[in-house]
Amino acid sequence: GGASSSGVKQQVELEKESELRIEVGNDAPLCLRLLNGNAEIFGTELAPEIWLNFPPRLKFAVFTWYGATIEMEGTTETDYTADETPMVSYVNVHAILEARRTRAKASSSGDSESSQGPRVIVVGPTDSGKSTLSRMLLSWAAKQGSKPTFVDLDIGQGSITIPGCLAATPIEMPIDPVEGITLEMPLVYFFGHTTPSNNVELYKVLVKELGGMLERQFAGNAESRASGMVINTMGWIEGVGYDLLLHAIRTLKANVVLVLGQEKLYSMLRDVLKGEPKVDVVKLQRSGGVVSRNVKVRQKARSFRIREYFYGLLNDLSPHSNIANFSDLCVYRIGGGPQAPRSALPIGAEPVADPTRVVPVNINRDLLHMVLAVSFAKEPEEIISSNVAGFIYVTDVDIQRKKITYLAPSAGDLPSKFLILGSLTWLET
Ligand code: ADP
Repeated sequence: GGASSSGVKQQVELEKESELRIEVGNDAPLCLRLLNGNAEIFGTELAPEIWLNFPPRLKFAVFTWYGATIEMEGTTETDYTADETPMVSYVNVHAILEARRTRAKASSSGDSESSQGPRVIVVGPTDSGKSTLSRMLLSWAAKQGSKPTFVDLDIGQGSITIPGCLAATPIEMPIDPVEGITLEMPLVYFFGHTTPSNNVELYKVLVKELGGMLERQFAGNAESRASGMVINTMGWIEGVGYDLLLHAIRTLKANVVLVLGQEKLYSMLRDVLKGEPKVDVVKLQRSGGVVSRNVKVRQKARSFRIREYFYGLLNDLSPHSNIANFSDLCVYRIGGGPQAPRSALPIGAEPVADPTRVVPVNINRDLLHMVLAVSFAKEPEEIISSNVAGFIYVTDVDIQRKKITYLAPSAGDLPSKFLILGSLTWLET
């Protein structure tokens, strides 16, 4: 780490192909602007002279290809410049992907193979810079006029929506360096937990549902098909985590696997995917700027993400507190549930819970502080295969009056009475 700065305005000269790495202080935002030259934040170019306001705790880098002068004002936890970055190798990958997109766009044959743009999946351990690389590849592609689909399978953090979800959204513009991905209408499936081990089968089923839905969308949209996908994954790469990675690669038909900073994972994937035609496995260096986050920081980031869903990044949204009768809502949980009674099983067999069974849940005080998803399903049987409209947060359960109070992004009726409960909690702070 480097020095921290406080309060004063300062200018930083960046040499070509170097970056200014910043961790904004814990309590106050940081203002920053480009004075001279060209610079970008994770693939998105900065407009000259416009002040940007970065919220506390944000960690990012301002990179320049040809040199730049940056001005900043406010408090940082750390800021330092680095001239060793893997950016050239990252942009080379982008160039290859973009060439493939151009080829796919030009293919007039209507042949599904040749009109399909690259499906890139970014894998590696936690804190290897997967989300950041995904973001750069998306922003660079959008800048060149492509509309790649961002698929986020990282249920631990969630860069498209709240944690606990698998989600996809088309990226049509370089991603905003402060606000991240602006949500139009993302395609979201609710897993409900922040680690897949809670229900591995369900995770796989949801990857499959998401993949199927994207396939149908691509079939009717040549432009987005030719732009391909960038898929971000979880940092769990051992044991079951590794199986889930392979499952995602195959289910989403990824044909470019980018492995960040892990020789072992790289060689395992290369060997296992050798037999599969047209899958390129590429090893990339991890950036020295990636900041490691411990369990507590991760937990906090999750909590901020949920807060951001309801209140906005800069407290610019006003969620609505609603009251509903117990009888107006149907809450379900997926998996587990009351197991088959032993008496119904063959002698010696252990009862196993069906991981994808949809089980009704009684509304009681256990729902307090839980985040629930609002399903688009019209029947309970459709819950697993349906994406979700959004989320509510339970703030009160009145057993006597049989009423439930919840926070929702807006007032009015929910789009559906079918709610999904997982283990996602939030303590409003
Ligand atoms: P992963 O997705 O592999 O867990 P991230 O891409 O989320 O890792 O990176 C972890 C953290 O490091 C994020 O807060 C990110 O903004 C930050 N980060 C990544 N690259 C840099 C960099 N070059 N300079 C400063 N911070 C960075």
